[in-house]
Amino acid sequence: MAFQDIAGNSRVKKILKLALERQRVPNSMLFCGPEGVGKRKAAFVMAKALNCLNKRNDACDECENCRAIDNESFPDVLVIDVKDLKVKQNSRQGESEPDETDDGKTNRDTIGIGAMRGLKGIVYLRPMVGRKRVFIINEAEKMTEDAANSHLKILEEPPLFSHIILVSHNPALLLPTIKSRCQTLNFLPVAKEEIEQALRERGFEDEKARIMALLVHGNLEQAISQDWDAIQQKREGAWGLFRALIGREETSLFLEKYAFQPRKVIKEDLEQTLELFSSFCRDFVLMKENGDPRLLFNPDYEPRLRESEPLLGFEQALKFLALIDLARASIDQHLNMSLLVSSFYSQVTG
Ligand SMILES: [Zn+2]
Repeated sequence: MAFQDIAGNSRVKKILKLALERQRVPNSMLFCGPEGVGKRKAAFVMAKALNCLNKRNDACDECENCRAIDNESFPDVLVIDVKDLKVKQNSRQGESEPDETDDGKTNRDTIGIGAMRGLKGIVYLRPMVGRKRVFIINEAEKMTEDAANSHLKILEEPPLFSHIILVSHNPALLLPTIKSRCQTLNFLPVAKEEIEQALRERGFEDEKARIMALLVHGNLEQAISQDWDAIQQKREGAWGLFRALIGREETSLFLEKYAFQPRKVIKEDLEQTLELFSSFCRDFVLMKENGDPRLLFNPDYEPRLRESEPLLGFEQALKFLALIDLARASIDQHLNMSLLVSSFYSQVTG
């Protein structure tokens, strides 16, 4: 994997490549941003590029070092992961001892002091076979306070030949002192078009790629792992609600489903439903303008769309689209969900 294999985030990739080219890669970095946007992959590509024998600003994926890093058999690159720690803890093997909490129970969801001591022991050693030692700490926000403090000492005087990359989707939970010692790079959600493109490159048909890209809020990994049958079910459900709203029949179905649920239970579901509503609406607008049916977002829904399209006038369809956009944006602004759902409902049906 090289930079070109990471979708989106061209700004961040450019910065990293430039730093590599100029040999000015910071020794302590923090990669943050939402889940599934390529932070871990970028950290891994950095580890390879810093040790690549053929390329200066990227991984070649072919040289001895790149291949060894891919196979996790390169002694100078170490990835610390809560997931791996769990495996190590379960099998009672590996360098990291399980971290004991005060009451003696093994703490399985945090990166504890044990892992950090291990890191401290090797971070000052010169690279064994590569040019640079690279330590990647995934889910860095899960470092316990002790572990973070221990890490702080490393970050204060990082040796020139070592690079530490913290990866976090929730950097607000990191100690400010840790953050201030790292060069932070913010990864953004991958644009829909870029996700679509990445899915097509992985062999998905145009039509599927377009719909899958709609539902993942810029998370490429989630897009790839989606199950098509589940997506079809989701679309059916959303169509049912949409048809009820525009047909003014059983409009309360929408309210029942979303108005009385806690935010964390419905957030993703509601986001996806609104995206699908928006795709149906855009198809209506296309039909009303006598656009090419091949441009429909939901070509497989064409007969139903044609049957229902008269229920919403052109102006109404545009208004509906605007209300959907507003509701989508409000979800991100953490507004009260019940209020948001009720207000959307009353404006759509009002
Ligand atoms: Zn290489």
